[in-house]
Amino acid sequence: KILLLSVCVGFLAVKWTEPTFDAESLKGARVLVTGASTGIGEQLAYHYARFGAQIVITARREKVLQQVAEKCKNLGAQQALYIAADMGNDSDPDKVVDFALERFGGLDYLVLNHIGPVPFGMWEGDVEHVRWLMKVNFFSYVQMAWRALDSLEQSRGSLIIVSSLLGKLSSPFMAPYSSTKSALNGFFGSLFHELSIKKSNVSVTICTLGVIDTETAMAKIGDLTIIPAYPASDAALSIITGGAKRTAEIYYPWLTYIATISKDWFPSVTNFFIQHAIKYDP
Ligand code: NDP
Repeated sequence: KILLLSVCVGFLAVKWTEPTFDAESLKGARVLVTGASTGIGEQLAYHYARFGAQIVITARREKVLQQVAEKCKNLGAQQALYIAADMGNDSDPDKVVDFALERFGGLDYLVLNHIGPVPFGMWEGDVEHVRWLMKVNFFSYVQMAWRALDSLEQSRGSLIIVSSLLGKLSSPFMAPYSSTKSALNGFFGSLFHELSIKKSNVSVTICTLGVIDTETAMAKIGDLTIIPAYPASDAALSIITGGAKRTAEIYYPWLTYIATISKDWFPSVTNFFIQHAIKYDP
């Protein structure tokens, strides 16, 4: 009871002391969002558009990007540009950042959100897929962050990394995906400290998300899990407000924070829950 009480008090203290979200600060902000053709990335683009930002969106499918960009303009984006790119190609991450820097003359927010398709199931030895997924979900994030860092430094900008609860704790059936998210948490967690020590102007926000009701996620686990799915639009808003407030970590929904700490405090209970949260019939 005392432990639970201290978690609640700690959580409330953090909530009370954190800065408030200033929607005006996003008006005209220069934002690059990856993985923005569908899901959370698409919702991120729409929210930034409503706040009057200037947006570059990217993903592989040009036609879909074109439609999302059009909708962004209708929602109020000062500019909505798109560039098709495959983050599995060596040069595309740099190409995308350069495009945004050239068009906007700098960047205020780099929101790294894309993920490559992942099968859901027992890992059966496809090492090549893990290597490829690392490239798309991890190395391209590192490459883009480095390319944009000088500009973010000049603009007192923000780096937003969309990660997952599975980067904090491991779960069955998602080994390659989990490994890429753990790598992101490790790398950008270190970068956060280095930038703080250097008194850099750049903030780093790492986002830990639970199950979100995107088409891709629901098609994979919608019928298989007992964990409730939360709306992509709310997840996107949480990411944007966390980034704008320069919060180091955000958890959406808040239960993901409880899951993260319970892994260390109550490992057996957490492991039992993880192994029974998804229906599996051998
Ligand atoms: P989606 O699968 O809906 O979207 C993935 C996006 O990435 C699409 O825009 C896709 O567009 C793009 N993409 C896929 N492959 C590539 C590639 N090789 N190069 C460039 N872009 C690519 O994902 P979600 O919206 O569900 O997830 C978004 C983020 O949220 C991810 O980082 C994910 O890990 C995280 N998250 C999601 C959860 C969920 O339950 N949905 C839970 C926890 C975290 P295109 O096909 O056009 O390339």
